[in-house]
Amino acid sequence: MKQNKKVAVSACLAGHNCRYNAELKGNPEVMQKLKEEDCEIILFCPEDTCFGTPREAMDLTQTDEGIKALTKFSKEDRTEPIADYAINFFNQNPDIDLFIGKARSPSCGVCTARVYDEEGNLLSDKEAGIMAAEAKAQGLKTIDDEKYIDIK
Ligand code: SF4
Repeated sequence: MKQNKKVAVSACLAGHNCRYNAELKGNPEVMQKLKEEDCEIILFCPEDTCFGTPREAMDLTQTDEGIKALTKFSKEDRTEPIADYAINFFNQNPDIDLFIGKARSPSCGVCTARVYDEEGNLLSDKEAGIMAAEAKAQGLKTIDDEKYIDIK
């Protein structure tokens, strides 16, 4: 019997109001495509689970200890809870075929997250967010939502 493709998807793409400012930013095209492909969808949101919604926004910052997820104004380091959430999530879902992350998110962006230096200058806009980086480290197939719609 054919197994459905199991796809982990950022919950905000499915229309959940879990973004830092509770703004809706769904991607109906992606969700429709997954439905048409009869995929099994597993939603995740590390930031809402760890810090609640709404919450202070965060940026990826290059520090002497590597890339850290720091809140925009209070500069609280949120890297570890997000990485722990990701490890836990992938342990609980060991058979994921694909990870679709919200483009540009410091947690979920796959190849589009921005990294700044400690003075706030942009260093790169092609990085992986903290959870997406863990997905890659685990060898999962990963893609930003905006790219997924282009795949025929
Ligand atoms: S991008 Fe990721 S962390 Fe941000 S709201 Fe969406 S699922 Fe949550």
